[in-house]
Amino acid sequence: MLDIIIRQAHLPDGRGPLDIAIKGDRVAEIATKIEAEAGEEIDAAGRLVSPPFTDPHFHMDATLSLGSPRMNVSGTLLEGIALWGELKPLLTPEAVIDRAMRYCDLAVSQGLLAIRSHVDVSSAPLVGVEALLEVRKQVAPYIDLQLVAFPQDGLYRAQNAEENLIQALDMGVDVVGGIPHFERTMSEGARSVRRLAEIAADRGLMLDLHCDESDDPMSRHVETLAYETTRLGLGGRVTASHVTAMHSYDNYYASKLIPLIAESGMNVVPNPLINITLQGRSDTYPRRRGLTRVPELRAAGVNVAFGQDCTMDPWYSLGSADMLEVAHMGVHAVPMTSREAMEGAFTSVTQNGAKAMGLPDPTIRKGGPANLVVLQARDPIEAVRMKATRLAVIKNGKVLARTEPRMAALSLPGRPTTLDPADYAPRPNTQEAK
Ligand SMILES: [Zn+2]
Repeated sequence: MLDIIIRQAHLPDGRGPLDIAIKGDRVAEIATKIEAEAGEEIDAAGRLVSPPFTDPHFHMDATLSLGSPRMNVSGTLLEGIALWGELKPLLTPEAVIDRAMRYCDLAVSQGLLAIRSHVDVSSAPLVGVEALLEVRKQVAPYIDLQLVAFPQDGLYRAQNAEENLIQALDMGVDVVGGIPHFERTMSEGARSVRRLAEIAADRGLMLDLHCDESDDPMSRHVETLAYETTRLGLGGRVTASHVTAMHSYDNYYASKLIPLIAESGMNVVPNPLINITLQGRSDTYPRRRGLTRVPELRAAGVNVAFGQDCTMDPWYSLGSADMLEVAHMGVHAVPMTSREAMEGAFTSVTQNGAKAMGLPDPTIRKGGPANLVVLQARDPIEAVRMKATRLAVIKNGKVLARTEPRMAALSLPGRPTTLDPADYAPRPNTQEAK
């Protein structure tokens, strides 16, 4: 007896309709027609069934704190950092745990089951670390939550930040973080990259730096990070987050740099929602978009995964734990509008995020873990376009969340009485339905 059969599913690679059988916490079978009984049947009705979403760049210690103690009036990164500095002394572990747990509920409802969160370690006591270690334990059955020791105010610019970062790692934080462009000088930034890479190498940990989140074309710490990644052989254990300054680099320099990034094997994590609002703030017109060079990085073979960064916090007052919203913004802001690139945007919030986080490939396959999401869309591009409703979210063979499909009831003379917005896309390269 099977536990669940999902009928008539389409997979992200285009295969389908297929039935997916789940027994215990594994995918038992994927076949055209599974003649078997199951405790529960879910009719996907030709819709997309995908791996869960991943967010390789988030700040869970700050999430849902919008307006506390005040709003970010200018909307800039620097006012956000200053505002976070005002909030930090007021934080209690209980309040951070409460906000983070509520955010994780929201994440599960959106099929977001793997999150890497930076946690500020610039000043003692390490309230956020203590709180998020507890949250990591509580959500472990359903969310892969990785924590990054993040010296928000600078490894060298903030007093004792290195000592606090080491303490956070000793307490069990998973990943080494940093912010070289926020150090006092370029050379201090480069020194912080070297030091943090060595800490990661010595401890056998991953490294994920906020790197060149700036409009300054001279902010070139990603070059040092690629060098240190290659020198220490860290490869895919390293992630450069944001890298927005690359938007402003001169083309010749970028053409030299991108192959070095590819050679190092590091991941790059742009954050389209936040960076389309934060970058270019000091420009008049024309105003830079500020997203990093995603098409060129992808073409060079770099693993590019999109992160959400913020949801309702000092830096960003919107956000909804919806990684399809992130992919949708990436498609527009990069831009990446070919069919291949839009499918790439979907992969950037599923498989590529898992790869950046060092997690196993989540592609749905026979014998693999039964972790999947049923979406109200027929393929990845449609899922991005619609920011499709997550009809069912399954982790280890258990349905964790369900949402009713989005349907409209119409009252128009001579027109349909109900409307499913997912039915409206023409089908490219297929014959018109008869
Ligand atoms: Zn960040």
